[in-house]
Amino acid sequence: MVFSDIVGQDTCITFLRRALTTGKLGHAYLFEGVEGCGKRLTALALVASTFCAHHTGCGTCPVCRKVMAGQHPDLHIIEPDGTAIKIAQIRELQQELVLRPYEAPRKACIIESAERFNPSSGNALLKTLEEPPGNALMILLTTNGEAMLPTIRSRCQRLRFASLGEETISRFLVSEGATLETARLAAAQAGGSLARAQELAATDSFATQQELTGRLFSLRLADIKNLFIASERQGTDRDTALGTLTLLEGLLRDVLFAQQGVDQRIFPELAPCIEQEAALRSPAALAGIFSQITATRQAIQRNVSPQLALDVLFMKLARP
Ligand SMILES: [Zn+2]
Repeated sequence: MVFSDIVGQDTCITFLRRALTTGKLGHAYLFEGVEGCGKRLTALALVASTFCAHHTGCGTCPVCRKVMAGQHPDLHIIEPDGTAIKIAQIRELQQELVLRPYEAPRKACIIESAERFNPSSGNALLKTLEEPPGNALMILLTTNGEAMLPTIRSRCQRLRFASLGEETISRFLVSEGATLETARLAAAQAGGSLARAQELAATDSFATQQELTGRLFSLRLADIKNLFIASERQGTDRDTALGTLTLLEGLLRDVLFAQQGVDQRIFPELAPCIEQEAALRSPAALAGIFSQITATRQAIQRNVSPQLALDVLFMKLARP
């Protein structure tokens, strides 16, 4: 079953499976949740389950495979054209939906970034949402339901997808072959998004940076000379510098957790240094560092020299 490949969305999937088996599938759904939490995969699995040659959403028959690849002729996937979903895209969709399905029992459409309708394309969609031609299945996906046109939102059954827990993400990454440390670090930085965590864990420089930052930290943040050597190595380009900030946040989070007695560490092997930093810095000082990291990130994104930005940050770090 393709549903069983989806991580951490048991509530939504149980709900949809029950609707399928009892024949009570609605005609318009809105899947809400953070980027990369499994909305698109669930939408495809739902379509596969309704199209499947074995009526199960087996995931292996040619029909399921075509759906999961987004290449079934009766499945229409709409993504914003530029910044918005345009009225021409909705008109085209409507023309498709009135046709008889080529192969499947009904037509289906998945609309990505449903918060990006403009008033005219949104209005064009409304009637289709109320009475989809040929009993078409409409699935809208959004990361921000509140930013959607209320008229569209209210015509759909809303399913809220959970942000994935760090433990769930990290377990999954380990099952994909990541080391426990990489998995934990990526999970901590992914904001509940499995896709983001996978991307982080697969970054070539991730492991190197992890090692460098670990070394940097174990040398004591207060040692300014080592910090400058580190900034020279890690400020060579924008991406490396931004990655370093992410890692620093991970380390500082461990320090914060150490202060609060929370036993959920990303860098368990650095425990002695982390305890030391936890004793050295007040929670307010730590909060200050977190906001300095954010400011540094913004500066680098605004094209300030990465090395210069890291130098400034590290100078502040060196003063506990
Ligand atoms: Zn199948």
